[in-house]
Amino acid sequence: MEKKLARRRRLVLVPAPAQGHINPMMQLAKALHLKENLPVSDLKNLGPGRFLIKLAKECYVSFKELLGQLLVNEEIACVIYDEFMYFVEAAVEEFKLRNVILSTTSATAFVCRFVMCKLYAKDGLAQLKEEELVPELYPIRYKDLPSSVFASVECSVELFKNTCYKGTASSVIINTVRCLEISSFEWLQRELDIPVYPIGPLHMAVSAPRTSLLEENESCIEWLNKQKPSSVIYISLGSFTMMETKEVLEMASGLDSSNQHFLWVIRPGSVSGSEISEEELLKKMVTTDRGYIVKWAPQKQVLAHSAVRAFWSHCGWNSTLESLGEGVPMICRPFTTDQKGNARYLECVWKVGIQVEGKLERSAVEKAVKRLMVDEEGEEMKRRALSLKEKLKDSVLAQGSSHNSLDDFIKTL
Ligand code: UDP
Repeated sequence: MEKKLARRRRLVLVPAPAQGHINPMMQLAKALHLKENLPVSDLKNLGPGRFLIKLAKECYVSFKELLGQLLVNEEIACVIYDEFMYFVEAAVEEFKLRNVILSTTSATAFVCRFVMCKLYAKDGLAQLKEEELVPELYPIRYKDLPSSVFASVECSVELFKNTCYKGTASSVIINTVRCLEISSFEWLQRELDIPVYPIGPLHMAVSAPRTSLLEENESCIEWLNKQKPSSVIYISLGSFTMMETKEVLEMASGLDSSNQHFLWVIRPGSVSGSEISEEELLKKMVTTDRGYIVKWAPQKQVLAHSAVRAFWSHCGWNSTLESLGEGVPMICRPFTTDQKGNARYLECVWKVGIQVEGKLERSAVEKAVKRLMVDEEGEEMKRRALSLKEKLKDSVLAQGSSHNSLDDFIKTL
């Protein structure tokens, strides 16, 4: 049978520039998109690891076509792509375009991905002793390598191999600061053998437009305004970490017995194993007026608020940089991937964090919160966090390391 060549056809949607027009158009776009090759449900069904691999395969051809169309009338100086969108490199290579990798994780996470691939290729990962330190990567233990709860080791390694492949990329820009992770930065520079520009924290260098995918509940700022200076612990586990109902209950109970005020972000759908909605669950748990709960917060504003003393975090890299940038010490409860390495650095290198490991129990929550909010140890961490804040601020000012790095990068364009 004659095989017809499938020709890709595009849909162009033109919304009027008003919220009431944009929303239905976006809803229509989504409804149409769901009928295409990569429905959003794939993210749930495949998990983030397999989804990213499929995305790379699916997007390669259409991205190349788009680029080809763009090049008819435009000159492209450089294509900058996220390390996880590695299919871009293969597409731009055919047009001989300059391309640059943007890494949005830490330099240490990048190094760990390399190391994990090398260890896997050598003898596999199964026989490694979890608690032991990885040679030359202090303080990272084997268990801190960025394996994922969302993907098999094979899938993670396949993904990481691709993200570590520099191909024809002329350089890497990375959202970190030289002084935070100098040894990882130097390791990366040697391994990649192309210029690596640490230009972060980007959120301190520029005030970009708001890009939040979820609606930020501003009412928590009003609540913070009513609290005493340095009296609140902010709790948020980022955009995709999940918690078991049991853990949420232990957490609530530990916070309650710590006697501290808290602002807690609980995303809808982020609690598993519960018959009732998060809202109902929390209404039951938090009966005290010491706590305030929102579905999503304006996090940078929250961390900059004078009432906020500490941050209970999953240690995503953005949350880590945002907290360090405001001088807020952290309780680290990493969940997966690079969060584990970030937590190690927070606790052992920058010494501005306390990691809570193992089963989450009420007593462990209470203890960690008190150590950071009440004890002298917490005071010391706060002082160190404030001194790091100054260093980060300086790095993005004229003549600062990240500022200079960005200038150096721009000169290459
Ligand atoms: N964030 C937010 N409001 C919230 C929780 C998180 O704006 O209630 C933002 C936070 O400021 C950060 C991002 O979501 O910029 C989370 O990124 P991160 O790398 O910390 O974690 P991820 O979501 O990728 O696990």
